Amino acid sequence: MIWGMNGIGAAWRGLVHLAYPRLCAGCQQPLNTREEVLCLFCFQDLPLFPSHDDTRNEVVLRLAGRIPFAHASAYGLFTQDGLLQHLLHQLKYRGRKEVGRFLGKQAGLSLHRSAWAGDIDGIVPVPLHGKKEAWRGFNQSLELARGMAEVLQVPVLDRLLLRTRHTESQTSKSREEREANVRNAFELTKGTMLATKHILLLDDVLTTGATLEAAALPILSAGSVRLSIFPIGLAMG
Ligand SMILES: [Zn+2]
Repeated sequence: MIWGMNGIGAAWRGLVHLAYPRLCAGCQQPLNTREEVLCLFCFQDLPLFPSHDDTRNEVVLRLAGRIPFAHASAYGLFTQDGLLQHLLHQLKYRGRKEVGRFLGKQAGLSLHRSAWAGDIDGIVPVPLHGKKEAWRGFNQSLELARGMAEVLQVPVLDRLLLRTRHTESQTSKSREEREANVRNAFELTKGTMLATKHILLLDDVLTTGATLEAAALPILSAGSVRLSIFPIGLAMG
């Protein structure tokens, strides 16, 4: 019997699967060979935004009047103990970068169906402060952006924005406290040229919007740039 490379690859994957079954990041059941990160059942359970063309969606309403943006939407709803929270937790605190790439890719596929995705020139992931990134080992938003950029075929502009202030955790803060906490925390890298570009600013979760707002301001100050906002999860509750 002559095996082509694909046959060997499939056999090898089969053996690896026996030794270390790949499990669904949602329900922990074994994945079949066509499934990646999530099984089909869990994937169906993700509470996703049905469209990114709704100009009165919850992300738009939450940011309205605070910063000028071209478009705003989110991949899905981030609820307490929900599947998206669980997946982002695996990415951030368990270092499962493949979960981030997967979510970024799926978000890219979902955004690709919108009327405005083809107009995006680049994706800017909200940066972490250098100290925090060194501690975590990576920036979760960059992993998400890489997955999304692969689908949308645009560059990830991860050196454009700098987080110059180390801020405390936002988790237990009110909207006013969050805004004060992240104000002036970001700036553009020297020499950045952005005129006439359409930038998609990407973050893992939007709660009050304070972080995205603070990250958006230096980009908007770069001139005639257009900015759209896209968190993977919109926090509800
Ligand atoms: Zn599952």
